[in-house]
Amino acid sequence: MTTSHYIAGRWVEGQGSDCISVNDPALGQPFAELMAASVAQVDQAVAAARSALPAWKNTSASERATFLRGFAKQLGQRREALITLQMRNNGKPRHEAEIDLDDAIATFGYYAELAEQLPSKNRDVPLAAPGFTARTRLEPVGVVGLIVPWNFPLVTSAWKLAPALAAGCTVVLKPSEVTPLIEQAYGQLADALGLPAGVLNIVNGKAETGAALSNHNGLDKLSFTGSNSVGSQVMRSASAQCRPVTLELGGKSAIVVFDDCDIDQAVEWIVAGISWNAGQMCSATSRLLVQDGIADALLPRLQAALENLRVGNPLTEEVDMGPLTSQAQWLKVASYFATAREEGLQCLAGGKALDRDGWFVSPTLYADVPKDSRLWTEEIFGPVLCARRFATEEQAIAEANDSRFGLVATVCSADLERAERVADALEVGHVWINSVQAVFVETSWGGTKGSGIGRELGPWGLSAYQSVKHVTRCLG
Ligand code: NAD
Repeated sequence: MTTSHYIAGRWVEGQGSDCISVNDPALGQPFAELMAASVAQVDQAVAAARSALPAWKNTSASERATFLRGFAKQLGQRREALITLQMRNNGKPRHEAEIDLDDAIATFGYYAELAEQLPSKNRDVPLAAPGFTARTRLEPVGVVGLIVPWNFPLVTSAWKLAPALAAGCTVVLKPSEVTPLIEQAYGQLADALGLPAGVLNIVNGKAETGAALSNHNGLDKLSFTGSNSVGSQVMRSASAQCRPVTLELGGKSAIVVFDDCDIDQAVEWIVAGISWNAGQMCSATSRLLVQDGIADALLPRLQAALENLRVGNPLTEEVDMGPLTSQAQWLKVASYFATAREEGLQCLAGGKALDRDGWFVSPTLYADVPKDSRLWTEEIFGPVLCARRFATEEQAIAEANDSRFGLVATVCSADLERAERVADALEVGHVWINSVQAVFVETSWGGTKGSGIGRELGPWGLSAYQSVKHVTRCLG
């Protein structure tokens, strides 16, 4: 049994009623257990964040930057342990676990720099009217609840924690019950760095704990990453209390491949966009739109590439793709395989669970999927790629945009003018041209339509935790 709640600078046992099993998905077996936090412990965490706020928001920006640099450095010092834990609990291949850790380190480093620039943002505002001066003050929003999912635990939490702390907010983080041990690292780092008690609190638990946090009237803001169904509940709580919310939700993103592409290169991008993290990415490019002139040559090569992926236990085998992270996700993906059979979809690769222990499925490709198929329209969150053909640029744009989601898209074409034109026409938050899943801390993350509200990363990620104040003085 693990002690895993970090409240007011102390590690405490969970007093909730849920026992959480932490699983190794490659074996389908638990390797740790912990008791969820109780509702009273969520209250204590919010109260601790509230009492830490006045002092923390008045620390100098450079002091906060020093703490953030400390987080980056200490993450690096725990490199091997954090990589291994992600491989074991998420089922990530080693190179993906390494990328996640490096992303978290870069995020803390980046927001340390932005924190240092904060004093220069509090500047005078030139006024056209005579007789007055005005100045801007960027203040922290206050006490923020952070609720995150399980697919990129280190990264998603870093994208929230680093800008929130940089802005001068205090936080209560609720990791996913599927991967509750990974973010404990942030509490351990806070301890090691001497971060003032209550600035960062971590409560673990399932939906009840998440709801206790998102419904809490002691928060000034909630930032949520997760499913649309929970996101809409979180938004209802925020609306009941008229407070801001950032939502990073699901996706059903398109990868558009024009017929001037190098086929082998395109296949590499397509495979990466659906198989990294076993397809459990909000940004998975799970709808392939391939132009008529290249489709007949590309689809068999894509089929072979997916079938050749090495799927297995990242801790004991050389793998390209690990298991799905939870049994629930495995059952969900299997239910889409059943739907595909019922709908009579043409399966070119995979379409089944692997016959071995653990929560493995085969990388899957369905061709010529009808536009009204559930597999074309719904987020599956697994390595399941659906393909359709298109004739013209206009048709590709229309089909890519025909989704209730709008998170990301990839455009592959040798004609860069066309690629840029298509990128501009796509209704999403981020487009990659001739690359795949390339996320940089300086650019924004977030979606349009049903993919969410607000942006993370870049200066926008910091603004999400700031409140703008103006002080206007009459000179007369
Ligand atoms: P989820 O919505 O089930 O859970 C997310 C978090 O919310 C977990 O910590 C969970 O315990 C908590 N929660 C559950 N019920 C709650 C409630 N009633 N009130 C408050 N909190 C509650 O999502 P998941 O299965 O963990 O993650 C997968 C989803 O996350 C996918 O839809 C994926 O697209 C999305 N996601 C989006 C992004 C993005 O940046 N847009 C990134 C990663 C994942």
